[in-house]
Amino acid sequence: VFRILHGSRDLAVALVEIEQHVNYLGETLRVVGVPHEVVDDEDAKAFKRGGGAIRFENVTFGYAETKPVLRNFTLDIPAGQKVGVVGPSGAGKSTIIHLVQRLHDIQAGRVLIDGQDARTLTQESLRFAIAVVPQEISLFHRTVMENIRFGRPEATDEEVREAAAAAHCHFIDDLPQGYETIVGDRGAKLSGGQRQRVGIARAILKNAPIVILDEATSALDTESEIEVQKALDRLTKDRTVIAVAHRLSTLTSFDRIVVLMNGRVAEDGSIEELLKKEKGVFARMWGLQIRGISVDVALEQQHDDS
Ligand code: ADP
Ligand code: MG
Repeated sequence: VFRILHGSRDLAVALVEIEQHVNYLGETLRVVGVPHEVVDDEDAKAFKRGGGAIRFENVTFGYAETKPVLRNFTLDIPAGQKVGVVGPSGAGKSTIIHLVQRLHDIQAGRVLIDGQDARTLTQESLRFAIAVVPQEISLFHRTVMENIRFGRPEATDEEVREAAAAAHCHFIDDLPQGYETIVGDRGAKLSGGQRQRVGIARAILKNAPIVILDEATSALDTESEIEVQKALDRLTKDRTVIAVAHRLSTLTSFDRIVVLMNGRVAEDGSIEELLKKEKGVFARMWGLQIRGISVDVALEQQHDDS
């Protein structure tokens, strides 16, 4: 192969191009990520966009059929409500946000999005309805512009800039080539808070009625924290939000907190309501977190104590 290649400039150039394409494909796969085990029904319909109401109706689901994570699970989230989901590790928080996106099929019950059974919808149309801000934003080794545009590929430069401004990405103007700056492999040239805001800008650009947040467990410095929170406030305004939350600062901005324990709703209400419960898990956990312990860890301790 090397002998054939030797002296053959065109072929070498072609190979470099192929390599670049393969790298790009690899990056795309890393970002699009999740392997899909779900297939569209033959007569799957397109999702009809509404306000983003979510309903789990008697849902039973397990990664292995014999070991259900959720049993007869029901949860109703009206359009526009902002729900923080908390609970110890293994409680089922990630499972719930996966099922809203229909990354797995359930064994019994229904997941309804704006009254439409997720199982009857095309996955493509469901993906348009949901914007996800993951714990770790995956960035391409490409420009800031391209990275934000990933939220809605047909968006104009102007729309990308608007979304970036809404997500408090002021730092872009200070980058050497502004929006044309390459962010580095996995966004290495940006700080953690900047990467998060790029992820939020993507989600704002997508303009979906439902926002899923998987809050990062690691804390940012105070200034980044404030900027990220402002960006999140803008993203979540007038949308339905389901968020896995670990920190006190974000919990206060939710309309409702759902405490999950072993795949069940242990407590459900506004922060004020949950704090009033004398022996409430959340109330006790709150006291621990004020002393700087994260929600999950505090709940874990509660759980072990009982
Ligand atoms: P949380 O996000 O609250 O930590 P998860 O939803 O990730 O909880 O997990 C709920 C339960 O499902 C746990 O018992 C976990 O071990 C199990 N689980 C999660 N993901 C998988 C998977 N891909 N395969 C098998 N079991 C899983
Ligand atoms: Mg999880």
